[in-house]
Amino acid sequence: MNIELISVGTELLLGDIVNTNAQYISKELALLGINVHKQVTVGDNMDRLLDCFSKAFEKSDIVLTTGGLGPTGDDITKEAAAKFFDQKMLLDEKSWEKIKERVLKFTGDINKIPKNNIKQAMFPKEAMIIPNNNGTAPGAIFEKDGKRIIVMPGPPKEMMAMFNEGVLPYLKKETDSVFASKYIRLYGIGESALEIKLLDILDKQDNPTVALYAKEGEVLIRVTAKAPDKEECLKLVQEKIKEIEEICGEYIYLIGDESISSSQTELDNVVAKLLIENKKTIAVAESCTGGMIAANLINYPGISECLLEGCVTYSNNAKMNRLGVKKDTLDELGAVSSQTAIEMAIGIAKTSGADIGLSTTGVAGPDGGSEEKPVGLVYIGLYVDGQEFVYKNIFSGNRLKIRERATRQALDYVRQKLV
Ligand code: ATP
Ligand code: MG
Repeated sequence: MNIELISVGTELLLGDIVNTNAQYISKELALLGINVHKQVTVGDNMDRLLDCFSKAFEKSDIVLTTGGLGPTGDDITKEAAAKFFDQKMLLDEKSWEKIKERVLKFTGDINKIPKNNIKQAMFPKEAMIIPNNNGTAPGAIFEKDGKRIIVMPGPPKEMMAMFNEGVLPYLKKETDSVFASKYIRLYGIGESALEIKLLDILDKQDNPTVALYAKEGEVLIRVTAKAPDKEECLKLVQEKIKEIEEICGEYIYLIGDESISSSQTELDNVVAKLLIENKKTIAVAESCTGGMIAANLINYPGISECLLEGCVTYSNNAKMNRLGVKKDTLDELGAVSSQTAIEMAIGIAKTSGADIGLSTTGVAGPDGGSEEKPVGLVYIGLYVDGQEFVYKNIFSGNRLKIRERATRQALDYVRQKLV
């Protein structure tokens, strides 16, 4: 079953309002496994609306509209649907009584009912009327020759209630499938590199579908399956996730439901959780990240068990005095060097007594870069249970972005040592 969503309203075209109705409906339909084939936005104009309906039915079985059910002359969606199906509008007494009741309730005076409100009670006899419990305009399902147009009011509160109470149950009967999605978060691989790795899966995808989304410094994968029941859906999703894990498992740091799809702090949380689970203590010596790593870890409640100390050792003196970085190292190789990074990590681990020492030193820019040490160059040192690791990275972006990217990368190195 294909659905086309038509958002009606000149206000939308002028950019006066944001089309939250389309987002809401599309999301709800996706959860039902109903394909939204197209979204269209059109002004309150009879000819253009009729044209939209004809085009929509070339590919879709059902057209859903929001907006244009008000009492005024410019609200014409219902009239357009009736005209499209060549159906005559008649007064629906039941709807008219309800509208009058509602006006009476709000104004206390039935004589105050505006004459043009009667327009909201006019429907073809063939239409199935959907009551509106939050406003005056009822919605309706128009039908002819297997084509259906479902009209709903524009105000989101009225639309959402009508959609949930009247439209969704109707559409549910039309589909015998349910839909389930899982999300995978990956760090350390770009969207295009991942796309190449997953080419086979992406090319052959049908059910489940696999979608990649680039996020700040990460990629998100959504795996969505359609099946007669939830259990079968999840089984299909799980099988697909296994295939994906086999191809790019080393970059995956989290798999979960929709709740993990948007937060920027998931990587920080995963690292903090892993430290706690593994009962590992950590201390951080930061130069260019200036406390960001410690601050990110501290966002996680319960990290006090693991985070012993965070030092911002920005000057050479601080690196020497606080961490014991050798003067020779700084003189000969410079503060931004792999040797400095590792001495920092060892220094902070040993002096704080932590299992893990983590350090950053780099050129955050915008000035201070050279051919040999360009802006964005960041060394990350890691000292884990007596073993030394050092990583060279070149991050792009402005000063803040470089520092944020170095922070996330440093946290991911810790994660890799803990899984
Ligand atoms: P009314 O009886 O209020 O005229 P209506 O069904 O005719 O309702 P419209 O006139 O199209 O609907 O829109 C009324 C209001 O509803 C808009 O001013 C706007 O605040 C909101 N609205 C309409 N369409 C949308 C949409 N697609 N997304 C979000 N809000 C919307
Ligand atoms: Mg209106």
